[in-house]
Amino acid sequence: MDLKKAKKQAEKLRKEINLHDYRYYVLNEPTISDNEYDRVYKELVGLEKAFPELITADSPTRRIGGKPLSGFRSVTHSIKMLSLDNTYSEEEVRNFDERIQRMLGHEVSYEVTLKVDGVAVALVYKNGRLETGSTRGDGTTGDDVTQNIRTIRAVPLSLLTDDPEFMNIEVRAEVFLTRKNFDLINKQREEADEPLFVNPRNAAAGTLKLLDPKEVAKRNLDVFVHTVPTPLISKYNSHFQILKRLEKYGFRIIRHIRLCPTITEVMDEIEKWREKRSSLQFDVDGLVIKVDDPKLREQLGATIKSPRWAIAYKYPAVQLITKLLAIQLQVGRTGRITPVAVLAPVFLSGSTISRATLHNEDEIVRKDIRVGDDVIIEKGGEVIPKVVKVIKENRSGKEEPFRFPVTCPVCSEKIYRLPEEADWKCLNSSCPAQIKASILHFASRPAMDITGLGSSLVEQIVDKSLVESYDDLYDLNINSLVDLERMGPKSAQKIISSIEASKNKGFAIVLFALGIPGIGINASHLLTERFKDIDDIIDVKIEELSTIKGIGPVLAMNIKNYFNTSRNIKLINNLKKAGLMFKRTQITTKNTVFSGMTFIFTGELKTMTREQAQRKVRDKGGIVSNSISRNISLMVVGTFPGTKYAKAVSLGLKIINEKQFINILKED
Ligand SMILES: [Zn+2]
Repeated sequence: MDLKKAKKQAEKLRKEINLHDYRYYVLNEPTISDNEYDRVYKELVGLEKAFPELITADSPTRRIGGKPLSGFRSVTHSIKMLSLDNTYSEEEVRNFDERIQRMLGHEVSYEVTLKVDGVAVALVYKNGRLETGSTRGDGTTGDDVTQNIRTIRAVPLSLLTDDPEFMNIEVRAEVFLTRKNFDLINKQREEADEPLFVNPRNAAAGTLKLLDPKEVAKRNLDVFVHTVPTPLISKYNSHFQILKRLEKYGFRIIRHIRLCPTITEVMDEIEKWREKRSSLQFDVDGLVIKVDDPKLREQLGATIKSPRWAIAYKYPAVQLITKLLAIQLQVGRTGRITPVAVLAPVFLSGSTISRATLHNEDEIVRKDIRVGDDVIIEKGGEVIPKVVKVIKENRSGKEEPFRFPVTCPVCSEKIYRLPEEADWKCLNSSCPAQIKASILHFASRPAMDITGLGSSLVEQIVDKSLVESYDDLYDLNINSLVDLERMGPKSAQKIISSIEASKNKGFAIVLFALGIPGIGINASHLLTERFKDIDDIIDVKIEELSTIKGIGPVLAMNIKNYFNTSRNIKLINNLKKAGLMFKRTQITTKNTVFSGMTFIFTGELKTMTREQAQRKVRDKGGIVSNSISRNISLMVVGTFPGTKYAKAVSLGLKIINEKQFINILKED
């Protein structure tokens, strides 16, 4: 293909991808399959690889571009980012309306939207292209987080319009995380022994401040556009109409927006969302009430702090009184013991609450929490409810101060609390609670991703001594599982296949799965980028480890302690024997053609063994699966194929023969 032709094709593909992104992420109405999308996307990647001069800044392939930053540049906002006046009182909302009417001399209609609990950002477009994305900061200057904003798929890199009025526009938006994504992030952090985020807003703010856009992209931030601060769009006398227009031009505008002709309807909206907001996928802490007409907004102006034409109504945090029935102690993977309050179940903002975290011993002492107490619990922005305080007046006098036990509630060994630490720990490495938790971590999705190996199954296999540590998983077979509770030959087979498939995981994942305290997936990548195999990590001096950026002295100590334990070395040797990857595979940037693709083989190959073929796939960044499913990208069929072949045909999978497979390998 010549350059001219390629350029035309690249432009066509970009338009196509932008449109599909819009349909998928903004409208939630995809019109093509994921496979088809991948095909178009890969074609563009291929073209840009062949003709690098064709790459444009707003190409959809450049969403996650850029190198990690060392810090953020500051941006001065062309229009100040004021914060809204907010109130918990409905009366003050009515007062707000009276004030507006007094100033204007007539009734006005209000635009009422959900107040999503996220982080405010300003997005500036020049000539229809995203130029900067920045945080509010102090309202006058904020941080330039453009690289991170670009990773949000619902933010258009270029507008789907030539409408001259919109080509140079600034929009204000809220960046947030859905509860589901928030839970996922916290689950991964818990597994990686990293501190948890207290709520989705906190997590979104932390994510926007990450310096590496690749890490940001993994967090799946979301966005709602809610305001156009510029009065430039002259022909519109309704901000609501401007937002509708923006949606057509590629923006994801705030959901559940409503135009209310009078304050009465506004009050109805407040009532309507009081309970209903808990059924949404994201946290909403109130409603934003804004005069709709942009010209009136200008006329009303602003005080130093906030605009006069808007107010935020916030729902008060919901508190309830219930009885604290017991304090339970949970033993985690690293032996950390966390106290949990068991409560008489109560219904609170959309869910039944029967447990609340008590954090640690000091927290219990500070709040003087005793078993049998009436306690006030609260579920605010935090997902996990907390005990706010004890109602001491309700005490009968029989409640005893809580005494932290001196032995582990699971293995009965003595427990320890170091003077500088808040947590008690069980140091017994054969404590069943820790073994179970470490197997669960090993099998979890970000680690070895063994589907079907959940907590109830882990309970059983440990209690029945089928498995004493996670290396034993690779000795399991169908017969050993089939007689367990809620297990049949089919699910047993699935789990065994999944255990088998986990052998495809790369070095960094395997290292992370070991569960070395404090070593999350990021630290694991740092180590595997620096050291070529596990033996190098085992042999390295602690001084060298602690100088690695992102590791530091504490993690270095944890790593050394872990590998100085003969039990762990034995474990690693067993995993090596099972075929797990303990060294770096040579994947150069050229050789990632198969990344994101899953292969399956059936039948005999003529020119190479099955193992050689699988190795070639892995070397090029692909994944090899042994069980057939819709997630397979490509089946390679040799002579005398098995039953997988018929299954693949019925699923409509893409199937190629050995010759075609060899051709793909050569292509690269
Ligand atoms: Zn224990």
